[in-house]
Amino acid sequence: IDQLEELLGKFNMPQPKTDEPPSIAPTESSLRRGIASQEFFLVYQPQFSIATGKIVGVEALLRWQHPTLGLLHPGLFIPLAEQSGLINQLTEQVLEQALAQMAKWDHADITMSINVSPTTVVDLNMPEKLDAMTTALEIDPEKIVIELTETALMENASLYMDILTRLRMKRFNLSIDDFGTGYSSMQHLVRIPFNELKIDQSFVRQMLKDTECRTVAQMSISLAHGLNMHVVAEGIEDQETFDLLRELGCEIGQGFHMSHPVSAWEIEHLYLS
Ligand code: C2E
Ligand code: MG
Ligand code: MG
Ligand code: MG
Repeated sequence: IDQLEELLGKFNMPQPKTDEPPSIAPTESSLRRGIASQEFFLVYQPQFSIATGKIVGVEALLRWQHPTLGLLHPGLFIPLAEQSGLINQLTEQVLEQALAQMAKWDHADITMSINVSPTTVVDLNMPEKLDAMTTALEIDPEKIVIELTETALMENASLYMDILTRLRMKRFNLSIDDFGTGYSSMQHLVRIPFNELKIDQSFVRQMLKDTECRTVAQMSISLAHGLNMHVVAEGIEDQETFDLLRELGCEIGQGFHMSHPVSAWEIEHLYLS
């Protein structure tokens, strides 16, 4: 753990901040209106077993069909939603859409991963809310994976410990997303009952060329296995990386090499029929 922390310290040196606004910047009022008029929808990126190549799950990724700015990715509106307090309403829509979709896919042996901002886990009383929603839709909680990013969690580890433990006790899966990009002490990781670790794509995408990235991936995999977690590698863009991850014992892969995020219809027709 010390060795991994030291190595990650190198990657997580503070970067100079650029405060330039993006060229396309939605406003808070347009976000509010967009939520009210249902302009948000989900796309799904398949996740594959690295051993068998079979689909084992999908990750729900949010998109905003903005009336004048066009199709927007979450990087352009999630931070705004978090700052303006609209993230809870947005997360409610995400949960509704993702779970409704999952209810339609009840015949398929796949999981659904959902990204949530850590604050919403607390604000929405996530264990009770998800429990009520999955019960109403007759969805097995073990098919649902809640993804939280490392950075936000570790700033408030003890606050999240209780609520995440309750989610786990209701049999929802917990995944630590973008692993390796936080500034955290890894001791917290051991205390929160995650059952999945996602290696951040910045390491995966460089691991063929950069031996330190490869070492981070390797050590993350052995840390995860030591803590009884399985590993998802995201950002796999070529066959060589896929093969290397198989050699390293990574269980699940996700990335443009296999599939971009696609519509629910495409998931159904390409993978579930
Ligand atoms: P993430 O959860 O780490 O999701 C993976 C991101 O990497 C997605 O970007 C996906 O399209 C992209 N990606 C997947 N494979 C590859 C690859 O091989 N190469 C490259 N270059 N990129 C790849 P996306 O959809 O733009 O999402 C960005 C982030 O926004 C997500 O990162 C997640 O943290 C956040 N996000 C997405 N949907 C939601 C949501 O419903 N709620 C919240 N709170 N956050 C969300
Ligand atoms: Mg994610
Ligand atoms: Mg990620
Ligand atoms: Mg990310």
